[in-house]
Amino acid sequence: MKDKGLHTRAVHAGETPDPVTGASAPNLVMSTTFTMEEPAGFSINAFEGEIPYIYTRWGNPTIRVLEEKLAALEGTADCVAFGSGMAATAALMFESLKSGDHLVISDVNYAGTAELARGTLPAYGIATSAVDTTDLAAVEAAIRPETRMIWIETPANPILRLTDIAAVAAIARRHGLALAVDSTFATPIATRPAELGADFVVHSLTKYIGGHGDALGGAVLGSREGLEPLRTHALIHFGGVISPFNAWLIARGAATLPIRMRAHEEGALLLADFLESHPAVARVNHPGLDSHPQRQLAKRQMRNTSGTLSFQVHGDGAALAERMAKELEIIHYAVSLGHHRSLIYWIDTEAMMESTFKLSGDQLAHYREYAGDGVFRLSVGLEDANDLCRDLDRVLPRPTQAR
Ligand SMILES: *Cc1c(COP(=O)(O)O)cnc(C)c1O
Repeated sequence: MKDKGLHTRAVHAGETPDPVTGASAPNLVMSTTFTMEEPAGFSINAFEGEIPYIYTRWGNPTIRVLEEKLAALEGTADCVAFGSGMAATAALMFESLKSGDHLVISDVNYAGTAELARGTLPAYGIATSAVDTTDLAAVEAAIRPETRMIWIETPANPILRLTDIAAVAAIARRHGLALAVDSTFATPIATRPAELGADFVVHSLTKYIGGHGDALGGAVLGSREGLEPLRTHALIHFGGVISPFNAWLIARGAATLPIRMRAHEEGALLLADFLESHPAVARVNHPGLDSHPQRQLAKRQMRNTSGTLSFQVHGDGAALAERMAKELEIIHYAVSLGHHRSLIYWIDTEAMMESTFKLSGDQLAHYREYAGDGVFRLSVGLEDANDLCRDLDRVLPRPTQAR
């Protein structure tokens, strides 16, 4: 599939018609165990080289369809799928870091990742430094002799701030560190971090790649050698395997990822323009807007600016959130993103600092530039953009109330 275009790879990679029945769509193999022609070992450690299908936690043909499709889209040698984005994140962190090691991580990222790095890793003797990764000097300054990995997320949840992957990859290379990039918001349609020097690409498949809000999944992509410990240890002994049914649903979603991302981007740009010109709105964050502070980096690093934006309003955001939850007709007031249904959620800055990010000083000031007292994160779905604008216009305060 290497010489084929992105749309062709999305549709066909990982799949072939069934050799027995000729079925055109991939089979869903729910079996947890596989019959053997002769007895073999009972531990993964007893096998060498290519491991046959034995038990679904070790490998499954439907999960393999998904892994091969994702590797073809991301342009990496291999992929290991997990039961959720957090299962993938935890597997990669705990496989790469041991007691005494140190992790440099971006100071703003997905809440679960931030809490795992700041709360859980230190309890296992793994130190973490959260740095503003838009500041390359700060990244370099945070590196210690015991640092093993740099972890970035771009665009970062929920403020859509970007990190220059190629520049951070150069720093990681200079210091002999692994670079992991959570590319969930970008998807391989926008950005392929491995091409820019990342060692590991992490996705929550629950978002754009699955795309329909009906299956949790996660993945780590990279080289075969890099992923080997994840496949033969983290997956098998931590057990965060994806259900074959979810793998099947997500592979079906991934087939339409390139065309869905075009529509998500188009919708998000229309909504971003609408919101930027709305008197109730104080600021809109989206990498496709000329007002984005890193618009030039977005042009270099993102082929598609994706479908999620966040915005600040004048006045009481929390009260408006209550109104949205009750009165929005099309947009669902709900967490998550990347689905065909539009989703909106209020993220209060003070609450987020207390529970998750714990930023202060310059880091807090930089976060507040984007988020103020709080932002609405809007994941623009695949509905008609006009209907979404009208839905928001009904609940946003009228100009006279806005001041
Ligand atoms: C949702 C998300 C995750 C976690 O994924 P789950 O599938 O919910 O476990 C990780 N990173 C980012 C950027 C996310 O948006």
